[in-house]
Amino acid sequence: MKQLTVEEATKRLYEIANAEKIFIPYLTDNITKAVEMYNKIFAEEQVELYITRNRDRHFSPLDNYEVPKCPDCDIDMMIRVGGRDPETEILYKTVWYCLACGAEYYSDKTIEEWQNELPKRAKE
Ligand SMILES: [Zn+2]
Repeated sequence: MKQLTVEEATKRLYEIANAEKIFIPYLTDNITKAVEMYNKIFAEEQVELYITRNRDRHFSPLDNYEVPKCPDCDIDMMIRVGGRDPETEILYKTVWYCLACGAEYYSDKTIEEWQNELPKRAKE
């Protein structure tokens, strides 16, 4: 499995945050489009779109769901769309990953399938 270093993860999240800051809400309220625009204009390498369950972000599809915790760190994992296991070259529909330790867990489920499967988070 590919291990994201903390530096890599931080850099990518920083890039996403930049895309959001620059393009939303001035040009688009769609984070996917914002990241595409950011990539075209600024990024030397393509950033991957990360979907976080941060409740302050209106675009996360898993905000209201109980998401899996990292078995090592016991914190909520984040999910992104699409990933390739570098060892097997197999493409997966979603990847759960831990920002703390960099572990990645590949899945054949789509975001929609996870929404159907995960329990809803209790209202606070
Ligand atoms: Zn972890």
